[in-house]
Amino acid sequence: MSTPAPQGRVTQLPALCLCGCGQPAPISTETRAARGQIKGQPARFRRGHNMRTPEGRAAMAARGRAFRARASSSARPGGRKIDREGYVLVKAPGHPLADCQSYVREHRLAMERHLGRP
Ligand SMILES: [Zn+2]
Repeated sequence: MSTPAPQGRVTQLPALCLCGCGQPAPISTETRAARGQIKGQPARFRRGHNMRTPEGRAAMAARGRAFRARASSSARPGGRKIDREGYVLVKAPGHPLADCQSYVREHRLAMERHLGRP
């Protein structure tokens, strides 16, 4: 802890793109934790070069599947969706508790039925 590092300063070595193209990887201009990027640190790949590795292609394919699954689930018929807090919303046009898009939290409807309200 108290002993200083042998080198006075850390020199930034030009990191090479991990795809094996031999070109230097760019320095990240912003931190993106999800992508493993740290501002000021070299990125792992040049832009798009992660797609040259099997892992990169697999990750991109998984992202595409997740996107399509989300899109189809939000567009499915029946007027049901999940709000940001995890409540199930159901379409109930004209309901006194409905929001501006005519959605009501399902547990409220269930409780109304349970209480025998009209
Ligand atoms: Zn590359």
